[in-house]
Amino acid sequence: MFNLNRTIFKNLILGNSPNEFFDQAFMSSLKSVFYKVGTQSLKDKNFPIQINLEVSRSCNYDCPFCARKEAPEGMHIPFDLAKKVILEANDYGPTTFALHMWGEPLMNPEWPKIVRFIHDQPVAHGTTMTTNGYLLNKTNINKVFESGLSQLIISLHTFDEEEYKLRVGKDIKLEKVLENLRELSKHPEAKSLTKIIRLFSTKNEPENNPTLIKEFEALGYYIENEVYDNSANFIEGWSEVKVKSERYPCYHPFLTLTVTVQGDVTICCVDANHSLKIGNAFEENIHNLWTGEKLKKMQLEHMTGKFTSLCEICKGCDTWADKPDIFFDFQKK
Ligand code: SF4
Ligand code: SF4
Repeated sequence: MFNLNRTIFKNLILGNSPNEFFDQAFMSSLKSVFYKVGTQSLKDKNFPIQINLEVSRSCNYDCPFCARKEAPEGMHIPFDLAKKVILEANDYGPTTFALHMWGEPLMNPEWPKIVRFIHDQPVAHGTTMTTNGYLLNKTNINKVFESGLSQLIISLHTFDEEEYKLRVGKDIKLEKVLENLRELSKHPEAKSLTKIIRLFSTKNEPENNPTLIKEFEALGYYIENEVYDNSANFIEGWSEVKVKSERYPCYHPFLTLTVTVQGDVTICCVDANHSLKIGNAFEENIHNLWTGEKLKKMQLEHMTGKFTSLCEICKGCDTWADKPDIFFDFQKK
């Protein structure tokens, strides 16, 4: 039953499914109760339900809202490190591996090997990768399907050519990325892959191109509409997150961990300078870190809303408000 719950709910909670589900799920408070109960049934004492692997910290784009510049120098995750974490996950049931943090995962030539290795395990792990889509040429499209990747999210930001250049910080033609996506949808196995185009509306551009939205929906893409957040308060001026209620616990330290290219293990995938680090995966097991005292203290800070130097960057962050509260009021300290 537990594994079944893990499988059913994990994608819904961790933002790996189309927003339409969330829109429907929050139409009533009853569904909100269902969401909280369902999410909490996933909280695993022994192992996170999602591990973000920073497959690469290199990037071919230079987005002005990216906190990557705050991160220590680094290239790609060593395969042996990814392998160590994946093999450990086998002992704890299906885990979703999200193959990104700060960087473009397709820059790492070993990405297909990592994805294939995850899907060759005796446990039915899931994989999701977020890419800017520029490197999705024919070779990489074939590798997407050969590797068995479960879900691909393309951060497209906008369907407007000029706005696109501003958002990615380079003179890159949006049309090239759109052609890649059209090509991907023609692959004979395209239906087996969950394909999501992620757009970010802004005050300047609240509506995106309805003709292109229609075209890509017809090609099998889900369209997600998001807004920029401040990524742990690293990014000024881009956030349009509306914090509608008092502070509630961020879901990150209760459900996920992130392993960086240097092996640092942090509680948060937007923690660019690793100030929320709880250990290093080269030296320690994920299970030990997940059950360790440092994480417990951090979780307590989130439950009480009283942040010390331990969770200093959480104070000014608004990323937590991007997902619903997973706790009932009586559970908060
Ligand atoms: S594509 Fe992603 S990692 Fe690269 S600069 Fe843009 S936001 Fe940063
Ligand atoms: S509050 Fe922000 S910085 Fe802290 S764990 Fe959540 S998303 Fe990360």
